[in-house]
Amino acid sequence: MPISRPRAKQRAVLGSTDSAGAAVTVNLAAIAANYRSLRQRVGERVTLSAVVKANAYGLGMAHVAPALAKVGCSLFFVATLDEGSALRQTLRGSRIAVLEGLLPGSAPAFIRAKLIPVLNELSQLAAWRKAARGGKTPPAILHLDTGMSRLGLSQRDLARLVADRDLLRGVTLAAIMSHLACADEPAHPKNPAQLAALHAALALLPPAPASLASSSGIFLGPEYHLDIARPGAALYGINPIPGKSNPMKSVVSLQAKILQVRDVDTGETVGYGATHRMNRPSRVATIGVGYADGWLRSASDRGSAGIAGKRVPVVGRISMDLMTLDVTGIDPRIARPGATVDLLDETYGIDDAADAAKTIGYELMTLLGRRYRRRYRGGTR
Ligand SMILES: *Cc1c(COP(=O)(O)O)cnc(C)c1O
Repeated sequence: MPISRPRAKQRAVLGSTDSAGAAVTVNLAAIAANYRSLRQRVGERVTLSAVVKANAYGLGMAHVAPALAKVGCSLFFVATLDEGSALRQTLRGSRIAVLEGLLPGSAPAFIRAKLIPVLNELSQLAAWRKAARGGKTPPAILHLDTGMSRLGLSQRDLARLVADRDLLRGVTLAAIMSHLACADEPAHPKNPAQLAALHAALALLPPAPASLASSSGIFLGPEYHLDIARPGAALYGINPIPGKSNPMKSVVSLQAKILQVRDVDTGETVGYGATHRMNRPSRVATIGVGYADGWLRSASDRGSAGIAGKRVPVVGRISMDLMTLDVTGIDPRIARPGATVDLLDETYGIDDAADAAKTIGYELMTLLGRRYRRRYRGGTR
């Protein structure tokens, strides 16, 4: 897939002479603005890291991470060792932490690339100490599970760690972290319970910067900010407070060209399975975006697209490479082959499209752009 370098003045829309049928535009300036707005919310005392795992949620880590570094981010989280090694090539001086932890045998790779392992169990702690050969270890982050039953030390592991201080001897802790299960539900009792569990654990462990909040956690209030916040989604424009108006700037737009427009008579059906039957003479526009592009099949017969400032409904099933829109209400001189349709823009964003596909913005965003032409704007490199 051709990936263009960030340039300051790139076109946001598909040009009429453009060979691409669909393009994702990532607004790096909006990501920087979102970072600054979260920075304002947590205050200067809190280290505001950035989670850039899964290729920066599908938006392109190699472009996104430097843009964040430029506005002052110096700590990055990725999911895997491979992502960490790749990011190290891009960001020589930043701290990079790897959430999936230390898999057996991977300590030398962490040390070589100066990556910070997030230690998720006692055996990883032992492996990290061993890699330091009796000296002081390079920095690691200790992950405590306070209610996810996913990654992190269990309460039982924590008790063993507290009982045997030797387990932590020589280990340099860059942070002690945990992760909230229900941060997007502000009234959920699990939030204060996890916060209390983390505080209880911190009181038993050597002093280290504490971290709990991801995007939604930041909006639970200052008591959740602790020393390090770890937002991902909000940086990329996903609403961290579902059900309320989105405080973040829209980052991603997606445009596609109309490939064909046809008249469809009353009673005729559209697409696979003949799920949509026209009840009036209609005009249907076909565009070259389908589930192979991450536009989920669960969005069949659901949601809409923008054309010339109007909304037109998706009709029929989403197929692999194509989808169909009812453009009956649009001037045929506008809805014609080659014309641009907006699938994602500032008014209809990733969360709206995800709603239509019966999923969350996170999932849709990470699926975007395997085949799309990708453009970056607002970059300063
Ligand atoms: C993905 C992830 C984050 C970022 O979460 P967002 O909701 O995208 O802000 C933070 N911490 C951990 C442990 C994660 O896995």
